[in-house]
Amino acid sequence: MARARIVWRLAAVRELVEETAHAKTLMLDVPGWPGHIAGQHVDVRLTAEDGYQTERSYSIASAPEEAGLALTVERIDDGEVSPYLVDELRSGDELELRGPIGGHFIWRIEDGGPLLLVAGGSGLVPLMSMLRHRSARRSVIDARLLVSARSVEDVLYREELATLATGDGLAVHETLTRERPRGWTGFARRVDSQMLALVGPGPATGPRIFICGPTAFVERAADLLVELGHDPASIRAERFGPTGA
Ligand SMILES: Cc1cc2nc3c(=O)[nH]c(=O)nc-3n(C[C@H](O)[C@H](O)[C@H](O)COP(=O)(O)OP(=O)(O)OC[C@H]3O[C@@H](n4cnc5c(N)ncnc54)[C@H](O)[C@@H]3O)c2cc1C
Repeated sequence: MARARIVWRLAAVRELVEETAHAKTLMLDVPGWPGHIAGQHVDVRLTAEDGYQTERSYSIASAPEEAGLALTVERIDDGEVSPYLVDELRSGDELELRGPIGGHFIWRIEDGGPLLLVAGGSGLVPLMSMLRHRSARRSVIDARLLVSARSVEDVLYREELATLATGDGLAVHETLTRERPRGWTGFARRVDSQMLALVGPGPATGPRIFICGPTAFVERAADLLVELGHDPASIRAERFGPTGA
């Protein structure tokens, strides 16, 4: 079967959802969208009035089973594209995008588990698509999620994650690196080896591992997991950007 060509499409912004003080989810209707696999991303292209164009990649947050596409964008204050998407975009606006893109950082129920998902900041976005897919298919595959964020207020999809974690087989762990609410009992430091060992599952169970976030975060987490004895071939990484969280 011929692969669908990755063409630019016009997406309509149906709704904007405020996720945190710095991040919004763009709910998009994309006529002709061919469908995606959890973990994939799209390229978004903006064109200025003088014709200047610029593109950035954004992971798909929604499950393949959902209608439309959800992208969650975190504002980088001095950024060119993310402040526009988070602060300026309005429902009814149109955006150019192409995709789905990515054949490596993907997971389907059929691929099996156990799953170990490690997110730094907005690196949670493609992992959320995997968890929403798991839930949409009523899977009970053993899945562990470790989210690293600066504060509770910075954790994306926090309520939805708590609801998902009431189902069978999913454990959600958070580590807060800057501010903790009074009485916080979760992790309170940068991701380290002891934390990863506690979250599990251990190397003996052969988990499929997906790590996503800022480049330095992803590289550190991958190194730690290899040191813990995980097979490097079982680790898939998606790097969002140059700086550490
Ligand atoms: C495959 C892929 C998927 C991605 N998915 C998402 C997503 O789901 N949600 C999301 O919010 N972002 C995602 N990103 C990051 C996104 O593509 C942009 O890099 C980000 O929005 C910043 O773009 P900007 O134009 O605002 O900043 P730029 O103008 O490109 O950069 C401004 C400054 O911020 C620094 N910077 C750039 N990117 C980052 C970053 N990610 N973190 C910290 N500092 C940065 C730059 O070095 C520069 O100093 C993804 C990136 C990749 C490669």
